[in-house]
Amino acid sequence: MVKKSLLRCFVDGQWITTKQRFSNINPVNGEIAGQVCEADAALVDRAVQAARAAQRGPWGSLSTAERAALLHRIADGIEQRFEDFVAAEVLDTGRPVQQARTLDVPRGIANFRSFANLIATASSEMYDSTAADGGRVINYVNRKPLGTVAVISPWNLPLLLLTWKVAPALAMGNCVVAKPSEETPSSATLLAEVMQKAGVPHGVFNLVHGHGPAAAGEFLTTHPDIDAITFTGESRTGTTIMKAAAEGVKDVSFELGGKNAAVVFADADFDAAVAGVMQSSFTNAGQVCLCSERVYIERPLYARFVAELQRRCDKLVLGYPKDPDVDMGPLISHEHRDKVLSYYELARDEGATFISGGGVPDFGDERDRGAYVQPTILAGLPDTARCVREEIFGPVCHVSPFDTEQEVIARMNDSPYGLAACIWSTHLSRAHRVAASLNTGIVWVNTWFTRDLRTPFGGSGLSGIGREGGRYSLDFYSELSTVCVRI
Ligand code: NAD
Repeated sequence: MVKKSLLRCFVDGQWITTKQRFSNINPVNGEIAGQVCEADAALVDRAVQAARAAQRGPWGSLSTAERAALLHRIADGIEQRFEDFVAAEVLDTGRPVQQARTLDVPRGIANFRSFANLIATASSEMYDSTAADGGRVINYVNRKPLGTVAVISPWNLPLLLLTWKVAPALAMGNCVVAKPSEETPSSATLLAEVMQKAGVPHGVFNLVHGHGPAAAGEFLTTHPDIDAITFTGESRTGTTIMKAAAEGVKDVSFELGGKNAAVVFADADFDAAVAGVMQSSFTNAGQVCLCSERVYIERPLYARFVAELQRRCDKLVLGYPKDPDVDMGPLISHEHRDKVLSYYELARDEGATFISGGGVPDFGDERDRGAYVQPTILAGLPDTARCVREEIFGPVCHVSPFDTEQEVIARMNDSPYGLAACIWSTHLSRAHRVAASLNTGIVWVNTWFTRDLRTPFGGSGLSGIGREGGRYSLDFYSELSTVCVRI
């Protein structure tokens, strides 16, 4: 079972109870679900030193096959405690239990399995060349671990995004100090239990709980003895962490915010497009970095499309995450709800029309003390409005008509972010043409969220630096060293 009462840090193979604690709040009703041990600077330092020692010790000398086997044992361990992980994700985030069962926990397992398989089958690079004097040389490339990697993860997909970084870091022989979001400490703690049971050597995986600024997050990202930082979170936090990483010229990989656009052409498969936009705007109460917050619809289809979107939005079921029929749980926290509601207010001030939602639901029970908001569709705002330019990260999208392909490409690209986009069209060449013109790290055509874990993932502009996924992750989590041999 999830240890609700007290979640501890895990450092150098030991469970650490600290005096400093913070509360884990259940977003469904605002009640305290448990206490979390907060790491201070000294404990973060212990974790970093433990990781460095483990790196120099037995972990550094494990073969690729042994590391791959260990990653599979970690995946087995998550599988064996599948329902505990589901409960942990639901408790911390309030997401529908079905989502945790079908997305979050399976992807946590898949992250370990896919990187285990990848390192087991990776080939090495070799070049045969001629030296200046005409002699023959061969060149090959060694991949070495970076050393100690700081993993900082957000609350929106806690297990999925943590394991997305921990798995390839370990696969390449690094040691890790992970700091999950203070909002979602439970599944990370379970992961440490799984690591311990799987026989991961002491110090290879360390878990420190705590907040970001002037707390565990900052203690970790400013620590002089870490070798790299991999971070998923807000773009503003990315800026702060990048400044810290400049000291010591640390490697960074950043997966940051988005203000993603979807375009629906008049030739789209209507039902598939409506269902797709519903999914891409409202999954996880809009708290997915890949969600569409801007939806552009070709004018001949606009009225019919928006009417159907409204009908479906008004039918979304908000409620207890454990209810299998629920479409949307609460937002992650009251603080985040205040932020989303402030954007609903701003939309009013900016002159938006509310097609759906715009407020909070009224349950008449304990859920009124939870962090729920209504799913919301806005219309009528200019592209310059803050609600159309800034990431809201809630169950909200703005719909807008367009007339030409060139116009919509320009409007979709008119954003400081560049994470994801969706195209809904049955016109094959147009879909390819538009996809090639968009400045985003990923473009979906007639689908959303589907990912092959071997493909590169990341964003441009404010959406991040670098790509992770498959061999791109292996590149980030390793230092390449070329050996040139005269033969
Ligand atoms: P956040 O930036 O507030 O926090 C993320 C993590 O950083 C947390 O663990 C937090 O404690 C830590 N942190 C905060 N300030 C820090 C500091 N000064 N130093 C070190 N660590 C610090 O983000 P969030 O609210 O948890 O997550 C939501 C954001 O994440 C959204 O902007 C969303 O778009 C983005 N996101 C992006 C991706 C992607 O793949 N591009 C995926 C998921 C979420």
